[in-house]
Amino acid sequence: MKTTGIFFLLVFGIYLAVNCQDMAEGACSQMLMNDLYQMDFSQKIIGNTKVRFDNDTLYYAFLFARMHYRGLDDVIIHLKYKKMRKSTMRSQPQVNVFTNKSNRVYRILINEDPTLNGIFYRDFSINSIIGWFGHEIGHIVDYFERSDLGLMVFGLNYVFSDRFMRTAEVFADSTAVFHGLGYHLLEGAEFCLNSDKISPAYKQKLKDYYLLPDDIRKLIYRFESKIVLEADGRDVSARNRIVP
Ligand SMILES: [Zn+2]
Repeated sequence: MKTTGIFFLLVFGIYLAVNCQDMAEGACSQMLMNDLYQMDFSQKIIGNTKVRFDNDTLYYAFLFARMHYRGLDDVIIHLKYKKMRKSTMRSQPQVNVFTNKSNRVYRILINEDPTLNGIFYRDFSINSIIGWFGHEIGHIVDYFERSDLGLMVFGLNYVFSDRFMRTAEVFADSTAVFHGLGYHLLEGAEFCLNSDKISPAYKQKLKDYYLLPDDIRKLIYRFESKIVLEADGRDVSARNRIVP
């Protein structure tokens, strides 16, 4: 029953994204926002999402993205504004040696100052914001099984190794796609790479460290093939692998 519910949620997400792509950007955002208001979000997810700002667009977009990660229903995630020079959003584990990692709390920080870097979330469509949240929750999936010490090593590697950073970012992108948010991620990636509002430096960073639109399309195809095979009751173990 649970698997069936997740399946229909994923298909609904894909349906929504595919249909939105055929519409004008404004109409798509408006339609999706109305849909988000009317969605019946899980009470557990609502209870475990702590929001430190008043912004319905971000809140509902986050709940929608979170509904695709039902394995994290019990995880507490805080959403918070923060001025950041190099990021639009960033997810962080709150390391606490006195608590078990299963009780660890995570934060997703959102830059609210458009002057600080070459990209600003308010320029995004709703779909793109959902995709961005899907990416950040993908990082939390990565953090989830790591010990506190493992997280510290992760942080050091991320800062000092470009190769490690790319692997971590590609993992987060791939995880979003394999949780049914590929079209949302794709819309954001295409917008960023084509928009005059995004600085050349930020575009280069996206090319260096994240999945490009064609890579995302290939992963979406693999994910959708997996869903069809699973619905058909066939073995998908060989395909169910995230490739950094
Ligand atoms: Zn990231």
